[in-house]
Amino acid sequence: MATKIYQCMQKISDAIVENKDFLTDLDREIGDADHGVNMARGFTEVMKQLPEDEEDYGVVLKKVGMVLLSKVGGASGPLYGTAYMKAGAAVKGKTSITLEDAKAMLTEVIGGIKMRGKAVKGEKTMLDALEPALDALTKGIENGDDAETCLNAMCEAAREGVEFTKTIRATKGRASYLGDRSIGHQDPGATSATITLEAIRDFYLE
Ligand code: ADP
Ligand code: MG
Ligand code: MG
Repeated sequence: MATKIYQCMQKISDAIVENKDFLTDLDREIGDADHGVNMARGFTEVMKQLPEDEEDYGVVLKKVGMVLLSKVGGASGPLYGTAYMKAGAAVKGKTSITLEDAKAMLTEVIGGIKMRGKAVKGEKTMLDALEPALDALTKGIENGDDAETCLNAMCEAAREGVEFTKTIRATKGRASYLGDRSIGHQDPGATSATITLEAIRDFYLE
């Protein structure tokens, strides 16, 4: 049977591919109508190249990042590529993970995206979903909440972050070319990031 991390990546890939047209339509509103196409292409290639029997989360996530870097292109390729490589580095050598590991991974992911994209929260990017998600996860862990409560809170915060992107102007990426006309539309990258977190939650709570 395929390893847990392989199965989790399959779940993420399926969610991205299912939402390909939706993500592309969002990017048509404020970008160049390719976010879903880019991400689906990348994850289809990821699932072709991932070994089903590799148990080490670090090895698998690093591989995911490298494939995304080479196949996705645009803004999201290097950003998601970096995100997965950083997530992998945070759990190097591990064959199972805890909520604390999830927190460490998401912390590294956000750090990597910021380093690569030079954006901060409030610029209408994937960070507007990921930062509140990390805050909610951290709070849940501090409260001593169980995994279900923590992961649900993380995903709810990410969804609220996506809603928040509708209310603000983009100041990074292609959408920033639209200025105020980007207001009223939800950010495609914040949306794909939230879909990813929801797929991870669904996988671990199954
Ligand atoms: P492109 O804009 O090159 O066509 P995509 O459409 O695949 O790339 O991805 C667009 C998404 O990338 C945006 O919705 C946004 O969330 C994210 N993004 C763009 N620039 C940045 C940045 N500097 N930092 C973080 N995220 C960014
Ligand atoms: Mg685009
Ligand atoms: Mg593009």
